Amino acid sequence: MQTELQKLPSVDKLIQHAQLLSLIETHHRSLVVEACRSELTAVRQKIMSGQSVPHIDDLVMAITTRLTAMTRPSLQSVINATGVIIHTNLGRALLSERAQTAMQQAAMAYSNLEYDLAAGQRGSRYLHAADLLCRLSGAEAAVVVNNNAGAVILTLTALAKNLEVLISRGQLIEIGGGFRIPDIMAQSGARLKEVGTTNRTYIRDFEESLDRWKTGLILNVHPSNYQIVGFTIEPTLAELAELSRGYNIPLMQDLGSGTLLDTTLFGLAHEPTIQESLAAGADIVTASGDKLLGGPQAGLIFGKAHLIEQLRKHPLIRALRVDKITLAALQATLLAYLEDNAIAEIPVWQMIAATVPQLAQRVETWRGALQEILPPNGAIQLLMVDSRSTVGGGSLPGQTLPTVAMAISTHSIDDLARKLRQATPPIIVRLEDHRLLLDPRTILPAQDSILLDVLSQALLHHHDVDLSGN
Ligand SMILES: *Cc1c(COP(=O)(O)O)cnc(C)c1O
Repeated sequence: MQTELQKLPSVDKLIQHAQLLSLIETHHRSLVVEACRSELTAVRQKIMSGQSVPHIDDLVMAITTRLTAMTRPSLQSVINATGVIIHTNLGRALLSERAQTAMQQAAMAYSNLEYDLAAGQRGSRYLHAADLLCRLSGAEAAVVVNNNAGAVILTLTALAKNLEVLISRGQLIEIGGGFRIPDIMAQSGARLKEVGTTNRTYIRDFEESLDRWKTGLILNVHPSNYQIVGFTIEPTLAELAELSRGYNIPLMQDLGSGTLLDTTLFGLAHEPTIQESLAAGADIVTASGDKLLGGPQAGLIFGKAHLIEQLRKHPLIRALRVDKITLAALQATLLAYLEDNAIAEIPVWQMIAATVPQLAQRVETWRGALQEILPPNGAIQLLMVDSRSTVGGGSLPGQTLPTVAMAISTHSIDDLARKLRQATPPIIVRLEDHRLLLDPRTILPAQDSILLDVLSQALLHHHDVDLSGN
């Protein structure tokens, strides 16, 4: 063992290797040295447990792999084959080409972000998307912050601190990622006042709980990721609006998904639109930018001018400040709606609108391309199967779209799924009925060729393992 250890080259010696020398040209020397050190430490451990010294080429290869891992950003592109369109774990909405271009512009050059070009003096970043948001929704005023959770905290803090906020017991919910209405309320300094029961809340319950002096806000939370079914009642937004007007207390709706388009056009249940909520009499409506709107992460706040003004002036807005690149992407996304081109331009709507025959054609193309690499013994089978895609991301709970997927039937599919997850780029799949499913709905057509490359590599390797293992 001692003699084996002595055969190991030193870092100084190792770094003279031509391949590592060339790496020093592209990476900082200290990074290459660090990769050498950690590989040598790992190899020493292996020698102590009885292995022999690796060949120098293998050593260099392992160091190169380490260096690649060290210098790769941890945030990387993946292929979403799950069929969940707004997948929060995978980054929610993909942005339109127009939005991508706008983001690049905003990144490359100075802009009038907070500069009033007409007056030649300081302007406000909060004006940029506001006009478009108002025009599309019918709101008197609008303001954009970092995300919808921030929008809710800001509104509760600015309008209801130290006051009571009335909310139905059926809406005291957790949205996900630790966003719980009672906790948010506590953070904002507003006092939660629960009204009614979990399954049945009547307008008279709100009326009995209202207090001209103590009530600051009535809050309605759209059930964006759950359903209460059966023996249930909730007052409508219009009923709440009438009541709140009578008492001159603002009515807020946290809509979450925040669509501008009618989801029933695509065979889905009706998701209340931002316009509808405002028309029904909500004084404030909050929504996410990266759910059904199909834009960047943002919190969109729509509503009465005097209330939005209070939000703009509140010190907390500084901590929730929206970035210029986000504003650029948001404006570009909203312009597609203004030009009535959202379904054609915005990936979320393209994915929702994709038809089963279109999807089937892609699955057939994939199968055709992969067929020739399949082992003749039938150990791996590719089938086209009917399945369901979901909208996801806290919108349209329980709603699915019919789809067709490519199903891979083989031994140890968990293994194959892991291999695909660890490929470059990673492919995230769905496992269903002991099969591995790839849903074309959430895979961009431009990704098809790289998808097929990664899949054929993984399938070939999976088959080899099969032959040697069994
Ligand atoms: C998604 C959602 C939120 C949180 O929005 P983010 O943009 O993720 O911060 C809040 N409320 C509702 C009803 C939601 O659906």
